[in-house]
Amino acid sequence: MTAVEWTKAQRESSTSLRAERVSARSTPVRTCIGCRRRELAADLMRVVAQPTAESGQTVVVVPDPRRRLPGRGAWMHPTSACLSQAVRRRAIGRALRVSGHLDISALEHYVENRHENS
Ligand SMILES: [Zn+2]
Repeated sequence: MTAVEWTKAQRESSTSLRAERVSARSTPVRTCIGCRRRELAADLMRVVAQPTAESGQTVVVVPDPRRRLPGRGAWMHPTSACLSQAVRRRAIGRALRVSGHLDISALEHYVENRHENS
């Protein structure tokens, strides 16, 4: 029995892992807007532009860890390196199709906390 078969058998013996197995069948790939590398969506964080009540020039960009927020999303590695690259290349505004000043403090906060926990 190969290692793969063994893992499969282990998974099939557990009903709690059945949903995970189904979702793993489709493996969407996205491109990181920071480093432009293609990556499994599961390893990237989705970011969206949050609609603000005031129609000012500032667009608030927030992380979407649950991937449930409506609107156009962009994908990037949850690292400060990719975040700063994306900012430098103005890739976030381009990917989200928004213009004006971007408030990415929520993203910075998310990336920093993630880094601390890992
Ligand atoms: Zn990246």
